Amino acid sequence: MEAFILFWFFVLGAAIGSFLNVCIYRLPQKLSIISPPSFCPQCDRKIKPLENIPIISYIFLRGKCRGCSSKISIRYPIIEFISGTLTLFVIIDSGYTLTSAAALIFIYIGITVFFIDIDHGIIPDPIVILGVAAVLIIQLTGRHLGWVDFISGAAAGAGFLIFTALVGKFMFKKESMGGGDIKFSFMMGLFLGPQNTVVGLFASFIFAAFIGITLKIIHGDKPAGEIPFGPYLVMGSLTALFYGDIIADIYLTWVGLR
Ligand SMILES: [Zn+2]
Repeated sequence: MEAFILFWFFVLGAAIGSFLNVCIYRLPQKLSIISPPSFCPQCDRKIKPLENIPIISYIFLRGKCRGCSSKISIRYPIIEFISGTLTLFVIIDSGYTLTSAAALIFIYIGITVFFIDIDHGIIPDPIVILGVAAVLIIQLTGRHLGWVDFISGAAAGAGFLIFTALVGKFMFKKESMGGGDIKFSFMMGLFLGPQNTVVGLFASFIFAAFIGITLKIIHGDKPAGEIPFGPYLVMGSLTALFYGDIIADIYLTWVGLR
């Protein structure tokens, strides 16, 4: 594909990332994501279109509001950059296909859930419902997965987390999984199908263990606070989205099944 066209897909992805920033900020507060237009939370100054260009504006404003000079979080351009880059990867990978559409919707939902869960410890239901509705429409219009994979993926996702939640409850007497995590995994299964869902869930647990131990070392005896599982689910499922086939291949060869 031409570099010029790919560049515009990055720009489009970054612009969507800018919208995701609005969703991450407003959805947990139950504010409208459409109006009012973006404003500085410190001085209420309306953000002009030129100050609202993904990534670029942050650099030109040197990370400060033009009205009150209060700092703009570096997270805004980072999210725009991640969204642009992943959009580019998907288009390079799968071109103008239904597979790409499904992958992109899943990625945008993943980014939103990742940051909302870190900030508030919740995965809002409307996001998951939107995801399920979108993947259903894609499945009905062009079938991005076979129906058996579509349904068994969701069963695998939800089932595995319900099982983990029950084990956690009976063995360790504490809540290890929330309802939001289970609903997200159900949706993940609809997007990814059974094989990638299993890869994604295992990757999530590996990320959780690895990062959990690292944080423990950094924080020492001080408890680092409860870390929600949603961000790990997003990291794991995005890993599976891009590398699920390769990981499954390596694993199956390793255990002698391929
Ligand atoms: Zn301001």
